[in-house]
Amino acid sequence: MDNCIFCKIINKEIPKEFLYDSENVVAFLDINPSADIHILIVPKEHIGGIGDIESKHGRLLTEVYETVKKLVALNNLQDNLYRVVVNGGSAQHVPHLHFHLLGGNWKKMV
Ligand code: AMP
Ligand code: ZN
Repeated sequence: MDNCIFCKIINKEIPKEFLYDSENVVAFLDINPSADIHILIVPKEHIGGIGDIESKHGRLLTEVYETVKKLVALNNLQDNLYRVVVNGGSAQHVPHLHFHLLGGNWKKMV
């Protein structure tokens, strides 16, 4: 989608080192981290936000959470040392569905 920063990263118009890169999902470090470990997991398809998720996205969402699991293990964040925050789809957020993996000194939210 035009003017979507995450689509530009996915299409390599903006250079970014990927921690994970598959046919459907990428993961990269958040540029302005809110925790010791702050990784964004982003579906390659431009889905605006939670309000745009449809049943056809089931497999994709499973892959997103499988990616979270891999990154949790790689960063030794098992045993509930992390939170996942899902954003996108409003004026306050990058309008492309994304999942923040926050580990370490994440702010207590729930
Ligand atoms: P939000 O939509 O509120 O979840 O915020 C978007 C998140 O994307 C913020 O945590 C930003 O720091 C992050 N972000 C924005 N641009 C980039 C970028 N070019 N590379 C990595 N992270 C980014
Ligand atoms: Zn996008």
